[in-house]
Amino acid sequence: MKSTSQPVVRDIILIGGGHSHVGVLKRFGMKPEPGVRLTVICTDVHTPYSGMLPGYVAGHYSYDDVHIDLGRLCMFAGARLFRDEVIGIDRAQRKVICRNRPPVAYDLLSINIGSTPQLKVSGSELAVPVKPIHGFNVRWQALLSRVQNHTRGPLRIAVVGGGAGGVELLLAMQHRLRAELKALGRDVNMLQFALVHAGAHILPTHNPRVRQTFERVLRERDVNVHLNAEVTRVDRGLLICKDGQQFDADEVIWVTQAGGAPWLKNTGLSLDREGFILVNNKLQTPDDALIFAAGDIATMRDHPLEKAGVFAVRMGPVLADNLRAALRDEPLQTYEPQKHWLALISTGNRYAVASRGNWGWAGAWVWRWKDWIDRRFMRKFSEFPPMSPQPANTTANTALKMSSEESLQAISAMAMRCGGCGAKVGATVLSRALGQLNVVHRDDVLIGLKDPDDAAVVRIPPGKALVHSVDFFRAFVDDPYLFGRIAANHALGDIFAMGAQAQTATAIATVPPGLEHKVEELLFQMMTGAVEVLNDAGCALVGGHTGEGAELALGFAVNGLIDENTPGLMRKGGMQVGDVLILTKPIGTGTLFAAHAKLATKGRWIDAALASMAMSNRQGSDILREFGATACTDLTGFGLLGHLVEMTKPSGVDAELNLAALPLLEGATETIAAGIVSSLQPANVRLRRALRNQEDFIHHPRYPLLFDPQTAGGLLATVPADQVQACVAKLRAAGYIQTAIIGRILPMGEALEPVVLIDA
Ligand SMILES: Cc1cc2nc3c(=O)[nH]c(=O)nc-3n(C[C@H](O)[C@H](O)[C@H](O)COP(=O)(O)OP(=O)(O)OC[C@H]3O[C@@H](n4cnc5c(N)ncnc54)[C@H](O)[C@@H]3O)c2cc1C
Repeated sequence: MKSTSQPVVRDIILIGGGHSHVGVLKRFGMKPEPGVRLTVICTDVHTPYSGMLPGYVAGHYSYDDVHIDLGRLCMFAGARLFRDEVIGIDRAQRKVICRNRPPVAYDLLSINIGSTPQLKVSGSELAVPVKPIHGFNVRWQALLSRVQNHTRGPLRIAVVGGGAGGVELLLAMQHRLRAELKALGRDVNMLQFALVHAGAHILPTHNPRVRQTFERVLRERDVNVHLNAEVTRVDRGLLICKDGQQFDADEVIWVTQAGGAPWLKNTGLSLDREGFILVNNKLQTPDDALIFAAGDIATMRDHPLEKAGVFAVRMGPVLADNLRAALRDEPLQTYEPQKHWLALISTGNRYAVASRGNWGWAGAWVWRWKDWIDRRFMRKFSEFPPMSPQPANTTANTALKMSSEESLQAISAMAMRCGGCGAKVGATVLSRALGQLNVVHRDDVLIGLKDPDDAAVVRIPPGKALVHSVDFFRAFVDDPYLFGRIAANHALGDIFAMGAQAQTATAIATVPPGLEHKVEELLFQMMTGAVEVLNDAGCALVGGHTGEGAELALGFAVNGLIDENTPGLMRKGGMQVGDVLILTKPIGTGTLFAAHAKLATKGRWIDAALASMAMSNRQGSDILREFGATACTDLTGFGLLGHLVEMTKPSGVDAELNLAALPLLEGATETIAAGIVSSLQPANVRLRRALRNQEDFIHHPRYPLLFDPQTAGGLLATVPADQVQACVAKLRAAGYIQTAIIGRILPMGEALEPVVLIDA
C-alpha cells in the first residue's frame, strides 16, 4: 500500500483489468498524478494476455507466463484493486454498482471489460465459451483430465467459429491433447476435431494467402472443416445447423462473435447493435464526458474496428493521457487506429503465420518472432523500476479542475493540523457516513447508533457475564471495504476464542485528511464492510470515534456475553495432556503482506490471504465447543509460537508441534525463503527460547513461520483425542478447509522449554 501525504482530490475508477487498463496503470505508475487516485474494479486478479493464450493451451507457456498480475501492477501504480463484478453505473450519483460491495464513487470512469459471449443459440450453455478466459481455463483443465481418462471410443471435439481465435485455439488444443495422449502411450486418433463455421471462408478478415495456409494446416492435421454451417441448436453430443446438417460433438468450444455485457443496457450510454459502447475518437462516450471506454467493449463510432487485443493495447497510452487531460480540463488526444496491423497466428506446434494487409508469411521463425514479441510485452508488466514515493506536491493539485471550496479543503487537508479538535473528523461527515449504515437491531441496546448520545447504554441480560476485548490496526490493504471486514473479524476473534456470543462494538478509526466527500466515502466503505461482519455475528455497532491520522486505521472494542458459570468458556489455560492441537486457518499473513509491499508476491496469493482473513471464526468456535475443546485462542500478532506458549504456560503442560503439518497460505514459503518477514517478526523471534530443540530446526524452511504475526488468524485449540477426527471433519465441511492437526499436548517435563518441534 503506497502511503502519501497528498490528499485525494479526484478518483478515477477503471472497470475491468483488460489490455488497455494495464497500459493505463503502467503509465500512472511511471508518472503518478498528484491528488489522483486510481481504483481498478475487476473480477479477476490476473489478466490473461490473449496473444499468448493459444501457446498456454498448447502447453508452451505456464499460467504465470501468460497472465499479467493485476495485484502487483496495481501496487506498482499506487492503485487500489477491488475484486468485484461491476453490474451497473448510476450516472446521476456518479457511482459504480458492484455485485458484492457498496457502490463506489467516481469522478472519471473508464470501462475495459472485453466482450461477453452471446450464447443466444438454444442449448449453447452446454458449450464452453472462450470468454471470460478464467472460466475457459477451468473448463479447459476439466477437458484435459477428461481426455486423459477417456479410454473407450472416439472423443469428438468441435470448435464453433472459424475466425482467427477459433482456428488458433483448435490447433493449440489438438497439439496439446495429442501430446498428452502420446505421453500416456495412447492412440492419438481417438480424438476427432471439427471446425464449424457459419461463413464461406475461415479467417474471413485475413487475406487469401493466409487463409490457404490455414486450410492446408487443418487438412494435414485431419480437422473436419464445415463451412456455411450456422449452428442453431446444441444438444447433448450434437450440433444442429440452420440447413439441417448435424455433427456429433462430445465437447463444444464456442468462439463466435461476442457482444457487450448485458448490464450496459441500463446505463443510458449509447451502444451499437452488439451492445458495445459507442465512443468517439478520444475514446470518450458521446453521452457522458466523464466516461471513457477502450478495448473490445468500445466501438469507435467513426472507425468500427475488429475486436482484437492489439487495438486494446494500443488504446492504453491514449486512454491514460486522456484521463489525465480530462481531469485538468485540457484538450484530449485522438486515437488513430492503424489501417493494417500485424497478426501472428500460431498453429499449436511452435509454428505461426504472420498476416498483414495482403501479406502473409509462415514458418517456425514466425513463431519464434511472436514468442519474442509476446514475452517482451509481458515483461513490461512484470519488471518494474524501483518504486519512487509520490511527490508531495501542493501545486500539482491546482492543475486539477476543482471548485474553490474543494481547493480550500485540499489546502486545509495538506496543512498541519493541531492534535486536538482538529484531529477529529467533522461531525457532519461522520454522521452522514454512519447514517447510511444498517446496524443490526438488538433489544439489549438501550441507546446506540440510531439515537446517539455521549455514550451507548447496553443491558446485560440476567445470568450473563460480559467478555471485553479491544483490537486496533492500520490498513494493510487499499480496499477500505475489505479492510473494514477484516478489522471487524479480527476484533471479534477474541470473543469467539472465548466461546462467547458477540453483543456490541464501539469503533475507533483514523482517516487521512482530505476533501470532505472523499473522507465520507472512505468512512462509508470501511464501516459498511465492518458493519456487515458485525451484523452477521449479531453484534450491534453502538458508537465510536473517528479522528484524522496519517494512515487509515480501524479497531473495535467488542463486548460479548457468556453464561456466568458456563462450562463452554474456552480459556487459554485448559489444555489437557493427551489432547490434540488443531489450527483452523493457514498461517503466513505477516510475510505475505510484507512481501506484497515489495511487489514480491503474486496477486492470487494476496487474494487467498485476504479471503482467509475475511473468514469469520464464529462457526469455528461453535464447532470447537461442540467437540469439547479444552482450550482456545485466536492467532494474531504474536504468531503461532507466541500464542501456543500463552496456552501451555497457564495449562501447566508441554506441547509437540509438527512443522510438516502446519497449514500455510499459498506463497508463504516462497516469501519466507526470499527472506521477507513482517516488521513484527523480530520481536516474536525472541520467543524461540520456548523451543526445546530449536537448533535442529533453525534451517527448516517452515521454522520462520512459527514467528509470523497473523491478522485475523484462525483458532488454535486443543480437543480431546477421541473427538479430533470428527471435529476436524466438521470444521473443514464448514469452510475451514485447511484445518489441520498440528501437534499434541504432553505432560510438563523437566526442561524449561515447553515446546518440542517435530517434522513428520
Ligand atoms: C483464443 C483467442 C486468441 C486470441 N488471440 C489474439 C491475438 O493473438 N491477438 C489479438 O490482438 N487478439 C487476440 N484475441 C482477441 C482478444 O482476446 C481480445 O480482443 C482482447 O482480449 C480484448 O481485450 P480487452 O482489453 O478489451 O478485454 P479483456 O482482455 O477481455 O479484459 C477484460 C477484463 O475485464 C474484466 N471484467 C469483465 N467484466 C467485468 C465486470 N463486469 N466487472 C469487473 N471486471 C470485469 C475481466 O476479468 C478482464 O480482466 C484472441 C481471442 C481469442 C478468443
